[in-house]
Amino acid sequence: MSAHAPAPHVLVLGGTTEARRLAAGLTARGGVRVTTSLAGRVARPGALEGEVRTGGFGGAEGLARWLREHRVDAVVDATHPFAAGITAHAARAATATGVPLLVLRRPGWRPAAGDRWHPVPSLGAAADALPALGRRVFLTTGRLGLSAFAHLDDLHFVVRSVEPPGPPAPAHLEVLLARGPFTVAGELQALRGHRIDVLVTKDSGGEATAAKLAAARELGLPVVVVRRPPLPEGVTALPDTAAVRERLERLWRPGPTPL
Ligand code: NAP
Repeated sequence: MSAHAPAPHVLVLGGTTEARRLAAGLTARGGVRVTTSLAGRVARPGALEGEVRTGGFGGAEGLARWLREHRVDAVVDATHPFAAGITAHAARAATATGVPLLVLRRPGWRPAAGDRWHPVPSLGAAADALPALGRRVFLTTGRLGLSAFAHLDDLHFVVRSVEPPGPPAPAHLEVLLARGPFTVAGELQALRGHRIDVLVTKDSGGEATAAKLAAARELGLPVVVVRRPPLPEGVTALPDTAAVRERLERLWRPGPTPL
C-alpha cells in the first residue's frame, strides 16, 4: 500500500462471529476500508465495526456489479458454513471480476470418545433418522430449515433459534429464543429440563455452540449431525481470521499478487 493510494476496500460477507471479529481487526489495523454485508435475516444484528450494507445483491451477477461499482479490492466470504448459496455466488462473482476471494471457514466439529453421532447429508436425512432415535427432539439447526421436520407429527420438538420460526413447522413444538454462546451447564439443564432423547445440529463448528455436544455426550444422548455442503470447485478455505488477515497483508504487499 502506498501512502497516496486509496485504502484497499475489503467486502466481508458476514453473518458470523468470525466476520464480526475480522471487521473489528481490520478496522483497528487502519488503512483499510471494510464493508460487512449482511443478508438481513436477523432483525437486530449486533454492532459491527466499519461500514455495513444489508440485503441480497441479486445473485452472482448482482454481486459482481456491486464489486465493480464499489471498487472492491478483495472479498472475504466469512458466511456460515451452511450458507452455500452466497458462497457459490461469491466464487462466480470473483471469477467474473478478477477480485480476489478468500473463504473463511471455521473447522467442523470432531467426535470425541463417548459421542453417539449419526452423521447425515441433509436436513431431510436428519428428519428421516429421528423416529428411530427418540420422541423428544432438541432441534438447533435454525428456524429456516424447520419445514424439513414439519411432517413428523408423532415427535415433540424443542426448537432453539435466535428469532421465532414461522410455518411450516411440526405440530408439537416448543420454541426457545436464545443466541449463543452457550455453556455446558446451561445445555445440560436444557436437555434434562425438556427430557430430550435426541439432539439435532448442523456441523457448524466453533466454540459458541459446541457446549450442546459435550452435554449430549455426558447424558449419553444420540446426536444427528448434518454434514456441511461442499465448497465450490477450486475454492479452498482458511480456518480463522488470523489466516485471512495474513493473506490480505500478502495481497497488499507491493510486487506480484500472491493469491
Ligand atoms: P444462502 O442460502 O447461502 O444465501 C441465500 C441468499 O441470501 C443469497 O443468494 C444472497 O442473496 C443472500 N445472502 C446470504 N448471505 C448474504 C450476505 N452475507 N450478504 C448479502 N446477501 C446475503 O444463505 P443463508 O444460509 O440463508 O444465510 C444467510 C445469512 O445468515 C448469511 O450471512 C450467513 O452467514 C448467516 N447464517 C446462516 C446460517 C445457516 O445455518 N445457513 C447460520 C448462521 C448464520 P442474493 O442472491 O440476492 O445476493
